[in-house]
Amino acid sequence: MSKLISVIVPAFNEEEVIHAFHSRMSEVFDRLPGYRCEMIFVDDGSVDSTRRLIMELAASDPRVCAVALSRNFGKEAAMTAGLDVSKGDAVAIFDVDLQDPPELLLDFVENWEKGFDVVYAKRTRRDGETWLKKATAAAFYRVIRRLSRVSIPPDTGDCRLMTRRVVEQLVRLREHHRFMKGLFAWVGFPSVAVEYRRDPRVAGATKFNYWKLWNFALEGITSFTIAPLKIAMYVGFTLAAASFVMGGWIVVKTLVWGEAVRGYPTLIVTVLCLGGVQLFFIGVLGEYLGRIFGETKQRPLYIVDSVRESRISADVHGEGDNAAT
Ligand code: UDP
Ligand code: MG
Repeated sequence: MSKLISVIVPAFNEEEVIHAFHSRMSEVFDRLPGYRCEMIFVDDGSVDSTRRLIMELAASDPRVCAVALSRNFGKEAAMTAGLDVSKGDAVAIFDVDLQDPPELLLDFVENWEKGFDVVYAKRTRRDGETWLKKATAAAFYRVIRRLSRVSIPPDTGDCRLMTRRVVEQLVRLREHHRFMKGLFAWVGFPSVAVEYRRDPRVAGATKFNYWKLWNFALEGITSFTIAPLKIAMYVGFTLAAASFVMGGWIVVKTLVWGEAVRGYPTLIVTVLCLGGVQLFFIGVLGEYLGRIFGETKQRPLYIVDSVRESRISADVHGEGDNAAT
């Protein structure tokens, strides 16, 4: 029986682009005649007609699987839901807004056949995004590379293809504070990059504002490194050492030259500075503590409302290889 490729597509309020994505991806599937291909749309609790559209597609197209989550759990959870239901020998992830061109799948498959377990898309240009978003994204990748031991390739999104054995390891990681780009890198296996130009969104608006991106960055850093905690230790140590030296100097100075009580500005600056540094690092501690709290609850990562499997993955006899409707 021919190999199965599952393409996971998380979608949250994307009614304008579902059909455009479906037809472009179907064309790409038609160019892969030696494989059975399926699209797994994961509706991440949309409030528009996204769910109805993907259910209709699953009813009419044997290559479409529809998974609907019970509410919005976020893109990371939606991708995990897709990975959990996927059965493909290779599993790919694409954004539904066509920012990751579906034609990339052809390059992915080619590299997969060369023996790579992970083929990821590396963007050389990002059109239609503000300079601030590009600059903050670049800074984030630089910081996380410096701080953490897993090396997360820069300028890489979630768009990638993974073989079955990679997916099997990935779905074992059930942590709540999911930073998928970090998890992908943590799993390892032979990987290769395919370069592409990131297109602007075809329709609709981005679901990530700067506040969400900032939280996403915090998530990435705190779930992959405890460097901020170590920094607290070094800052504390440096300040303590400096204050001992200064204390010694003040004693000597008082003994030799005497002391008229002055120095209010020095005092207030020292107190405020120390207070600020302490509060800041209590906040850092709290950030990690909050994450431990989140993990200890052991809640499921997402809740599935309904699933409609594709007929191509259920097709155990291998008939109708990759046939459209
Ligand atoms: N998405 C999702 N759940 C969310 C937010 C986004 O499934 O809570 C999906 C969205 O439908 C899209 C992908 O994640 O397919 C990327 O989202 P978006 O295009 O808004 O992000 P950007 O490309 O601007 O980083
Ligand atoms: Mg997008």
